[in-house]
Amino acid sequence: MIVSAQKAAELIREGQVVAIPTETVYGLAADATNIQAVRHIFELKGRPPDNPLIVHVAEINQVASFTDDRPDILFKLIDRFWPGPLTFVLSKKASVLDIITAGLDTVALRMPDHPKALSVIKKTGPVAAPSANRSGRPSPTRPEHITLDFGDDLPVIDGGPCSIGLESTVLDLSGYIPTILRPGKITADQIEDMLDIKVLREPAGENQIRRSPGTRYSHYKPNASVSWMSSIESIRSYQPDTLYIFHTQSPKITDDNIITFEGNYLDFAKSLYDLYRTADKRNYKKIFIEPLPDTTLSPIIPALLNRIQRSVSH
Ligand code: AMP
Ligand code: MG
Repeated sequence: MIVSAQKAAELIREGQVVAIPTETVYGLAADATNIQAVRHIFELKGRPPDNPLIVHVAEINQVASFTDDRPDILFKLIDRFWPGPLTFVLSKKASVLDIITAGLDTVALRMPDHPKALSVIKKTGPVAAPSANRSGRPSPTRPEHITLDFGDDLPVIDGGPCSIGLESTVLDLSGYIPTILRPGKITADQIEDMLDIKVLREPAGENQIRRSPGTRYSHYKPNASVSWMSSIESIRSYQPDTLYIFHTQSPKITDDNIITFEGNYLDFAKSLYDLYRTADKRNYKKIFIEPLPDTTLSPIIPALLNRIQRSVSH
């Protein structure tokens, strides 16, 4: 059910869970100081308890309630990228609820760049908010995606389609070397260029699972099976119950199951999860995606590649 930002703030203060728009994806928000409310997020999503939540703030001074960490680079990055799609992982204060951090000694913090999210959080104080989908499903980038996963009873603020459409970059500042745990719109290159320091890209395998437990789970999956296409396959084995997504090639056939982005990778990122859900609504069996090119073509490509790769059926 659609509610105003004012009503959403009242509900969150009462301990309820409300879906809020951000520039990345919609989040399922609860008061970050209310253990029952945060537990309700995990129940609603069916989220494994070892997958921690990001705390969303609306004012920089709220950071101090969650961490005593004060690395210089944190404030330089905040200055440049907040509000925006960059989440910091920092050592947590003892007072931060264990349910939010899944028992880790770190906490993830972000200030979202969406006027309705900021207006709610200014009224309620910080909220814990994972993506507003059932666990494993594609993240919601439009209000109707939330209704598909949770029905109409869940209160939702309508903020229109998300402008980025992929989840935030997660940057771990709790260790020796800043490390990207999840790629997003803000890239390791951008951070390196700005600070003149080395940033590690996603740690691989066990190390990543230890530092960011959520990455062990399958993510972002539609019901249709997702695969990378070969160009020959795309033309020879054209099937009507399949969604074909191209970003450089323009196939000869036009149909409503053939999508082309013609080099607009930001648009592709913004549309990806909506296309996944469109394929499911039409009961398509398969989604074929043209393989992504060299990552230097657009800064969003590492994030797109990461999300598509995680949704590919094995
Ligand atoms: P979601 O909110 O659904 O986009 O998922 C939050 C992401 O942030 C997951 O990949 C989590 O593993 C990651 N995350 C949240 N808190 C932490 C933390 N304290 N340390 C490392 N990763 C975290
Ligand atoms: Mg999620």
